[in-house]
Amino acid sequence: GLALVPYGQGRIRGLDADELGAHGIAMDRLVALGLPVVPGLTVPTGSARALGEPGTAQAAVALVEQLSGRRVGDPARPLLLRLSASAPGEVAGLPPDLACLGATPDNAEDLCTVIGRAEGLYEAWAATVRMIAEYALDIPAAVLDDALLDAPEPRDRVEALLSLVAQHTERPFPVDPAEQLALAARAVLARWDSPRARRSRKAQKLAADLGIALHVQALRIGPSDRSGYGTAVSRHPETGRFSAEGSFFRGVRRSAPPPHTGEPLKKLTAGTTLLEHSLLTLERHLHAPVSVDFEVRDGEISLLSASVQSRPPLRASVCLAADLAQDGALEKEDAVRRISPAQVQELLHPQLKLTGDEDLLVRGLPASPGAATGVIALSSERALELAAEDTHAVLVMHETTPADVPGMLSAAAVLTGSGGIASHAAVVARGAGKPAVCGAEGLRVDRTAGTVRIGDRLLHEGDPVSLDGRTGAVYAGTLTISVAGPPPELSTLLEWADDTRRLGVRVNADTAAEVNTAVALGAEGVGLCRTEHQFLGERLPLIRSVILAADPAARDEALVALEHAQHEDFKALLAAVGDRPVTVRLLDAPLHEFLPAPGEAGDEAAEQRAASLREANPMLGLRGVRLALLHERLYPAQAEALFSAWADVAATGFRPQLEVMIPLVSMPEELEAAAGFVRDAAATVAARTGIEVPYRLGTMIETPRAALMAAELAEHAEFFSFGTNDLTQLTYGFSRDDVERQVLASYQERGFLTASPFARLDPHGVGALIALAVERARSVRPDIKLGVCGEHGGDPESIAFCDDLGLDYVSCSAHRVPVARMAAAHSVL
Ligand code: PEP
Ligand code: MG
Repeated sequence: GLALVPYGQGRIRGLDADELGAHGIAMDRLVALGLPVVPGLTVPTGSARALGEPGTAQAAVALVEQLSGRRVGDPARPLLLRLSASAPGEVAGLPPDLACLGATPDNAEDLCTVIGRAEGLYEAWAATVRMIAEYALDIPAAVLDDALLDAPEPRDRVEALLSLVAQHTERPFPVDPAEQLALAARAVLARWDSPRARRSRKAQKLAADLGIALHVQALRIGPSDRSGYGTAVSRHPETGRFSAEGSFFRGVRRSAPPPHTGEPLKKLTAGTTLLEHSLLTLERHLHAPVSVDFEVRDGEISLLSASVQSRPPLRASVCLAADLAQDGALEKEDAVRRISPAQVQELLHPQLKLTGDEDLLVRGLPASPGAATGVIALSSERALELAAEDTHAVLVMHETTPADVPGMLSAAAVLTGSGGIASHAAVVARGAGKPAVCGAEGLRVDRTAGTVRIGDRLLHEGDPVSLDGRTGAVYAGTLTISVAGPPPELSTLLEWADDTRRLGVRVNADTAAEVNTAVALGAEGVGLCRTEHQFLGERLPLIRSVILAADPAARDEALVALEHAQHEDFKALLAAVGDRPVTVRLLDAPLHEFLPAPGEAGDEAAEQRAASLREANPMLGLRGVRLALLHERLYPAQAEALFSAWADVAATGFRPQLEVMIPLVSMPEELEAAAGFVRDAAATVAARTGIEVPYRLGTMIETPRAALMAAELAEHAEFFSFGTNDLTQLTYGFSRDDVERQVLASYQERGFLTASPFARLDPHGVGALIALAVERARSVRPDIKLGVCGEHGGDPESIAFCDDLGLDYVSCSAHRVPVARMAAAHSVL
């Protein structure tokens, strides 16, 4: 009848997961896929109690004997039974498997002879008898524990339990396999009904009277050199590639084996092909990394269970998605959909290279991904000092406050003793892309002593530590960090993402090296080259002498030097760009970043000129196009350097698609005047070289007025690039340099903001200005090219917003280019 359902017949007979349990369903699936399964049957939920009756148990034994072609008690081809239980879904607290049903004091020696070793068998047998004694025969746990006290060896334990049962029940423990099975079924159900198990179900928000299906499996005994059991997953944990990974045990299986014990699978001498075939078939069917429990008998594999692997490593998911689509099992777009931009980001984060010999100090909360190594700084001041010495610091504090933000930003990583995933330290670190571990238990900072207790260890400020913000692990000492590239399969998925997305992705890059990195990461061109960045460090005097020149002659001289330096930089940049588009922004040098500090100008006159140039609000002062209008040779010098560099590069066969961009414009008049400088420079270069350099002229939209004047600006601009950093600063009136430290942290705590508007584009205010500018610009110039080059160009949510507005491209820093490619694809999926 229906009460006993052989594996593979459940759904044919119209039963569902409620009746068959997760295991019954899984075994049905394996049979349907033509995979080798261990012989066995399911007693559906509704009939589970019947297995506690000798008649049903007798029929179950007979059916498993028939399915396996063996008989319990046959010494030549021995068979035992295993009873297990499963619920419709995943449930914690299922009773353990009861193996070795059918073993008796009379046949045990024969079984051991066949296996070639005794321990496994007696261990499993003892566990089974103990559970039957406690739950089916009502022998108190304390009595059982007492009886086992003097029986250290598994064989002694079986003996002690059998005699205790005989004494307690006044009859010997049954030797008949059906009687044993019936007792086992009653024990499993009694344990499932125990108050403790019911409480656990309540805690899991499951019905207290949830039913379970019972499963009776053949446990075929074979010689341990060719028999055993094991567990395998379908993907290599580090590479994510397909391969059977797991371990293997000889002897009799008691319950699910602990992970990472046993022998490596490669010690399996037979059956591995079928195991791999099974894993591959299951993956193709379930579209997920899978895990199986299996049994080997005389070199033959059969599956005991199969499931979707819970929490597979990210690399495994990436490789699987690519594999499935490559095999036609999945649409490419669906493969792309499976990997989020955040996961792309995670794959690009550096990781610690672990060897297994690390000195683990503590494991805290994985608060912000990435890995770092550095010396301990116990205050933000110390972190800042170390950063000034170019030393990597790990800022270690009980907790952080907004006042610590500069120190946090200067540190390589943050470690705190209190606080959760949404703590100040975690939020700031994630926003800054820095690794962080928070809530590390037992961390005690003593700033006066300059020490920190981590676990039972005392460390000093300056001691090296390493941490992994993805796992929460903190190690003593300096570990190697691999900036290991993401798996090649990610490149495949990103190429498919490129086929899917509409929005272009460019890079903000100032040097040829950055362009090369970004092109390798998939950038289609340069969306922003900040020319003032070519004058940082030792090149600073070049720009300073332009700004601080005593008279026009000195300024012209300084401009010649500047033009010469830029010509070389531009040549290298344009050669790296090749035939791609490149937006070169003429100088936007906020004076506070470029003026010498008091006392550093050199001579008294220069000192005075510097003093007279200092501004109360440099971000609102003499910068961008404003400086160019004050020093009229500045932009022509830059543009001539650029155009003649283009002519040189064109001679080598490349034709970079040049876009010249004017920064910080608010008035059409400013743009018109700057455009005149650029046109004149082009004419000068054409006259000098005979080459008419093709270029487009455009402007940044960085001020609210520029956005509002988009129509008028579009008369003079062939493209706009939204500088959302300044546009956010000026729309909110939030200083982009300072406001995150106190105001934004407090606003986030109050729930006014979920993210810094400098990280995630504000769709309501700043976004509305952009939308308005887009509409007005297109009304004048329908084919105007539109992009975003603020920090938001690398943020997935902001990218989706830009895509919805129909912008042509986003431009972001090189390391975020792959994230942006994926985000742009997800935006249309
Ligand atoms: C901007 O303001 O968004 C921008 C890209 O320019 P910068 O960050 O150089 O001011
Ligand atoms: Mg700007």
